[in-house]
Amino acid sequence: MAFLDIQHLEKAFGAMRVVKDFNLGVEKGEFVSFLGPSGCGKTTVLRMVAGFETPTSGAICIEGRNITGLPANRRNIGMVFQAYALFPNLTVEENIGFGLKVAGEGKAATRSRVGEMLELIGLPQLGGRYPFQLSGGQQQRVALARALAPRPQVLLLDEPLSALDAKIRISLREEIRRIQRDLGITTIFVTHDQEEALSMSDRVVVMHQGIADQVGTPFEIYNRPTTRFVAQFVGSLNLLDANVVDAAAGKVLLGDVPVSLNRPLLGRSGERISLAARPEIVTLGRSDGDHVVLAGRIADVHFLGSVIRIRVAVEGGLLSLDTFNQPDRPPPLLGTPVEVSVSHRDLLVLAA
Ligand code: ATP
Repeated sequence: MAFLDIQHLEKAFGAMRVVKDFNLGVEKGEFVSFLGPSGCGKTTVLRMVAGFETPTSGAICIEGRNITGLPANRRNIGMVFQAYALFPNLTVEENIGFGLKVAGEGKAATRSRVGEMLELIGLPQLGGRYPFQLSGGQQQRVALARALAPRPQVLLLDEPLSALDAKIRISLREEIRRIQRDLGITTIFVTHDQEEALSMSDRVVVMHQGIADQVGTPFEIYNRPTTRFVAQFVGSLNLLDANVVDAAAGKVLLGDVPVSLNRPLLGRSGERISLAARPEIVTLGRSDGDHVVLAGRIADVHFLGSVIRIRVAVEGGLLSLDTFNQPDRPPPLLGTPVEVSVSHRDLLVLAA
């Protein structure tokens, strides 16, 4: 059993099932993100782990102990919310020490722990301030310190960066990850921002309509998506419609152009599928060897400076690709016939 183990978790509000058979094991010290569009159930799972929401069924265990029935304040879990939720009438020090005071910690121990926490978040000078005297980023650091002060076993972060402006978001991203690593605290981070999830996490759970569609490292999620939803939600993607001609031999038709994929396909002959490729694996020109080569015409050219984004119309759809600017080579003209290549290994085959 994993350090934090979520088994067959379900949640229904009335007739609406918003979390469906959710299973996840999080290892000690791991940083896992829940990534998905608004309304997919991320926060509901987090709130059930925190104890703010009662599951309809299923179990949540920490270190083998079933905590599903425990009230929130007895779970030893720290939580940070999207809106900083600091106590406005308490100073930074009093906010950070709040959980320790409630737990009956002595004054000296509380003072020393609060000092440690202020150092950890890089705000040792600001202990006497009130929340309204802090920037959004500083308030969120204090909220993090307050959650961590009582030494929780698990840290839950519910979109903690989404109220901040872009620059602060990126610096706080790195800081949260540094603090999480320093403390080795098992963490779940909820976000709908794919860049946040990919850049911060050991593993990502991509959620869709209450279901964990795929669980994997950022690298796996991006390069080997197992569902069409994951492929389209994370990163940009080219999709071409195809018909399976011979599944065992990996032969398909793009429009009326036969293409051999060099691998057996799961679909049945006659079935519609999608071929999918990230823009960065599509190259202009013919690459021999282990590549699918398609003929097409330049449909769109965006000169962005260092990068030129090109769209090529091929049978079955449009393929976007990026090339680097070369001062001695002007971008291709619209309508120019070209060939594009995609390696067999990186071409994804998805159910239509
Ligand atoms: P967001 O990113 O917008 O917060 P989310 O993925 O976290 O979305 P949840 O907040 O978990 O989604 O909500 C999942 C679904 O459950 C939504 O359709 C929401 O309207 C519904 N829901 C959440 N809480 C309740 C509630 N207390 N009563 C009824 N429906 C609820």
